[in-house]
Parts: sequence; C-alpha cells; structure tokens
Amino acid sequence: MSECGKCGASDAKYSFRMLEVQTLHVRDFTRDNRVQALGLFHDGCVCKRCAVDELDIIIHPRNTLIKKLLPFVGVLIFGILVLIFTWGIARAFTVLGIAGILCGILGIGSIINTINKKRKEYAFMEYDEAERRAAWECMLSVLPKKIGDNDMTYIPIDEKTLKMKNGDLMILYDLLPDIAKKAWNMIHGKE
Ligand SMILES: [Zn+2]
Repeated sequence: MSECGKCGASDAKYSFRMLEVQTLHVRDFTRDNRVQALGLFHDGCVCKRCAVDELDIIIHPRNTLIKKLLPFVGVLIFGILVLIFTWGIARAFTVLGIAGILCGILGIGSIINTINKKRKEYAFMEYDEAERRAAWECMLSVLPKKIGDNDMTYIPIDEKTLKMKNGDLMILYDLLPDIAKKAWNMIHGKE
C-alpha cells in the first residue's frame, strides 16, 4: 500500500507521477529573465480523507479566506490610522497612509477573486473529478515550493498531460519554449 504524502495513512487512494520544474528568476531593473530546468520524475500518493478535507476547504473557503485576508486587513487599517493621526503633519505620512489603504484594498480584492474563481471551478466539476483535483492540490501542498533560489513547480503526468502538445504545456505550466519541448519528450519517454 502507498503512504499518503500529507498524513502518512497507509491506504492512499490517489497516486501521482509528476515531473519537477526548477525556475530561477534573474531580475534586473527592466525585466524578469528566467532560467529553467527540468528535474526528476517523482511519485506521490494522497489518501481519500485528505482529498475530501482539501475539497471541503475549497468549496467552503471561509476559514482560509479569513486567514489569507488578515494581513491585508492589517495593512488597510494601518493606512487608515496613519492618515487619521498624521493628517496635515507631513506629506510623506499622507502618501504612506494612502499607499497602505490601496495595497490593503487591492490585496483583499485579489484574494477574494482568486478563492471565488477556484470555488466556482470546482462546483461545476463531477464529484470524482473534483476529489481527484483536490487530491492533486493536496499533493502540491506537501511538495517543496523552493529549493535554494529555485522556484519549484510540478507537471502531473496523467492522461490529460499525455494528450497535450508542447504549446499547451508551455502555457499551462509556464514553461520556456525549449523546456516545454524537452518536457514533452521526457513525458513521452523520448529523452
Ligand atoms: Zn492523508
């Protein structure tokens, strides 16, 4: 039996094979250059209970939403307080206050939007598909997001990815053209 990557249960229902992608961002003042490399294939499993819990969090995101919104609510309140207590004292404080308010509002809007979009996407899926997708999200949550300076992402190797062309892989997994080609070859056992 395979072990669940999240809780360690020995009766994992979902098994995944994935290809590791390492991305290094080389930033200068004008643009964001990326250096990308493909890593190894990995195998992992998730149990039904963890998948169902993850799906429940996605469909009923109230607690996650509150947790994610808190820092931005803090920034918003900070901005309002700075404006109230420093009004007319110095222009720099006014700018700081307004920046805090804007940053808070934009952050709150963006988080609500992302979480709602995901919830709607899952609400329209067949239950089995939604549970499998939630299991994949659960798998991603236990994999390293960074190794050294590299951002880590993972391409699931399943029926869907096997049917994809280079271009689809490039867009969906944010790959550089050469890396998408190489990934396609690796996924199809040609490299
Ligand atoms: Zn589990």
